[in-house]
Amino acid sequence: MRREILATVMATFILAGVFAVGWGLGRSGTSVAPISDAEAAGGIVQGPNVVAPDRYVYYPGTEELGAEEIRVTACGTGMPAARRGQAATCFLIETGNGDKFLFDIGTGSMANVAAMMIPYQYLDKVFLSHLHTDHMGDIDALWAGGWTSGRPNALRVWGPSGATPEMGTAYAMEHFLKFVNWDKVTREYKITPVAGGINVTEFDYRGVDQVVYDENGVVIKSYPAIHTGDGPVSFALEYAGLKVFFSGDTVPNKWFVEHARGADLAIHEAMMAPAQFAQFYNQPAQLAWRTCCEFHTSPQSFGKIMSEVRPRHAVAFHFFDEEGTRYAIYEGIRETYDGPLSMATDMMVWNVTRDGITERMAVSPDDAWSVPGTAEQPPPDKGKPNPMSDEMEAGRWLPAFRAQDAMLDEHMRKYKLEDQDWRPAMYKKIEALQK
Ligand SMILES: [Zn+2]
Ligand SMILES: [Zn+2]
Repeated sequence: MRREILATVMATFILAGVFAVGWGLGRSGTSVAPISDAEAAGGIVQGPNVVAPDRYVYYPGTEELGAEEIRVTACGTGMPAARRGQAATCFLIETGNGDKFLFDIGTGSMANVAAMMIPYQYLDKVFLSHLHTDHMGDIDALWAGGWTSGRPNALRVWGPSGATPEMGTAYAMEHFLKFVNWDKVTREYKITPVAGGINVTEFDYRGVDQVVYDENGVVIKSYPAIHTGDGPVSFALEYAGLKVFFSGDTVPNKWFVEHARGADLAIHEAMMAPAQFAQFYNQPAQLAWRTCCEFHTSPQSFGKIMSEVRPRHAVAFHFFDEEGTRYAIYEGIRETYDGPLSMATDMMVWNVTRDGITERMAVSPDDAWSVPGTAEQPPPDKGKPNPMSDEMEAGRWLPAFRAQDAMLDEHMRKYKLEDQDWRPAMYKKIEALQK
């Protein structure tokens, strides 16, 4: 209904040939052109009792992407130190063909991803720029959250190799599954085994312009990045003649400068200045300057890179974006770059089409539920042994189980589950064990 109203308003708006001044004016003051495909926002309020076109906000789950459109959502833009207002690195990229990709999944970011109103069946593709926890720490929340909310298949994870096998993505995911072994084994028995798997594609971190994904019109390529050891990479996602270039953590490197050139959206870290690390982040001076400027990219260096690359729109992230920090970072960038720029924070959304790029903020629920999709999970694997021993089973206190019988009878009738009613067998078994 909302879309119909919006469409009517838009039609009126376009017929009138009037474009509001400041349409798509980014938060950072960047003037950008309107987008046509999503018809996302903007327009004149046509009367005192009508719907106001949304100029600045994106309501997740309310806009269809155009066939030749990309939507990018910052689900994490912060630091390894956790804070409620900003999670660690994660960018959700949605393409007009219906595909969705998570680029990094840093600690705390899944709460933001979950608020984007996307069924978990579509959130099964993760690309890791490197293996610092602020770029992959919430893989557990995606893995288990999706498993318990309807993802029917294994997660797919792409990530770089390292100098040795133990420094690579395959090793990290194999040992992640060891770390969560109790979780995995028990959920496999109770829910379904398939969705608990992780299919890893590890690729050579040294590859340049290396195609790591090519499906349904979306091509993703990798490039080396320079950070704190061999392994980190940058990615380019190409779709419908559009290119989004995403660099995880890196110092200024020649591959980004060469291959992000002319990208529609170029996402690159810009660290806080050394003084800010010392003042706000409790880092000693000797560490503060190295964090900023020796294994990360300073605001001035970010600006220099973007001046060379000249993307249609540049995105700076990986700093706590607040009153104490953002102005000095912005001014640092502006010393060396005067082009279109977003100072990213969590829930910032960009719509990218050939006609224009808009920046908005998502307005989303704090208490998001998982969204139903069309997929159905396979049933539990009855062949696996019960991870609960008879000794523990015998400790069930049956009077409380019987107290829920009437309520469960109704559920069984309503959903025609009578033939799957496990209670008679359980009662019989527990009573025998308790004799
Ligand atoms: Zn890192
Ligand atoms: Zn990082």
